[in-house]
Amino acid sequence: MSFDVQALAVEGVRALSPYQPGKPIDELARELGLDPSGIVKLASNENPLGPSTLALEAAHAALAELCRYPDGNGFALKAKLADRLKLESAQITLGNGSNDILEVIARCFADHTSEIVFSQYAFAVYPLVAQAIGARGISVPARDWGHDLDAMAAAVTERTSIVFIANPNNPTGTVHSGEAIEAFLDRVPERVLVVLDEAYCEYLEDGSQDDSLAWLSRYPNLIITRTFSKAWGLAALRVGYSLSSPEIADILNRVRQPFNVDSIALAAATAVLGDQAYLDRSRQVNSAGLKQLSEGFEALGLGYIPSAGNFIAVEIGGNAGDIYQALLRKGVIVRPVAGYGMPGHLRVSVGLPEENARLLTALGEVLAETGTGGRG
Ligand SMILES: *Cc1c(COP(=O)(O)O)cnc(C)c1O
Repeated sequence: MSFDVQALAVEGVRALSPYQPGKPIDELARELGLDPSGIVKLASNENPLGPSTLALEAAHAALAELCRYPDGNGFALKAKLADRLKLESAQITLGNGSNDILEVIARCFADHTSEIVFSQYAFAVYPLVAQAIGARGISVPARDWGHDLDAMAAAVTERTSIVFIANPNNPTGTVHSGEAIEAFLDRVPERVLVVLDEAYCEYLEDGSQDDSLAWLSRYPNLIITRTFSKAWGLAALRVGYSLSSPEIADILNRVRQPFNVDSIALAAATAVLGDQAYLDRSRQVNSAGLKQLSEGFEALGLGYIPSAGNFIAVEIGGNAGDIYQALLRKGVIVRPVAGYGMPGHLRVSVGLPEENARLLTALGEVLAETGTGGRG
């Protein structure tokens, strides 16, 4: 008699396929026998500058207390965030990356009787967290690759417990104006939580990056999530946070693990908030890189989705999977997005100028070799 472990897993988990991360540099180096230092990874929307020196020093100093549990309340980091964002510490919930918070939100506010609404082509974690708790994920068809906010508001039913909105969205880079998001919040009943995922807000150019904070006092059902993984350059340490009413934060705090953010991460995140020069440089490198990549794609005759993030989805056509593989063989890692329902695109994270140039050169060679895509 065979023992079927699969059957023991709850239904949502049985049908789950895990999140597909970008290919790690060391893995590609092992597979192809390449020197890791020659590989360019533009696959996970990481900050190409390397970490802030202030963050590195703080992380290093925190190593001396490795034997102790971290501050489970993250007092210093919350105080610094509260000061910066002009909110109360009690409105902040820390997570092991903002991914952790997205999952905690779903576990706190939805169950197998719930519907969770998100957009087609939105961040892959939303359908995953819905499915893991047995909730019904409602994917609303996108409009011009972005969220169709009217259709999303119309998709809310009496069973809807959560709506996820990524602004800017990953992997498309599309963004909605503050007015559009506010109009959406006005249409959604208060019993439905709206999670506004602002993982890329620091890259917004027009001074609108903190517009959403003022909505917290007007919409008690709003949760904003942010992260230190992208513009702040601390992806490895896994620190993110949510901003909400203190009442929602209290509920999230009941379910999160007591020590979900470690001491090194707390120390580095607290320190990097004092490094405004690093954030400014991240933004500059990103906007220059977006320009370099989009001009490069145009020169290759390729379309792309204009992006407000630190990445750009380039339109390759039917053989995007082959082009991805061919780029790997040239030591350039980008991100296939077929799993997002975008089989004709590849997502390219913005790198340093020389990394972007490497990608563009390799892409031009690969397109010429395969005789497809591009100008022809
Ligand atoms: C990268 C990303 C996150 C989460 O990143 P963490 O590293 O878990 O903080 C959340 N939402 C979107 C849309 C992202 O692209």
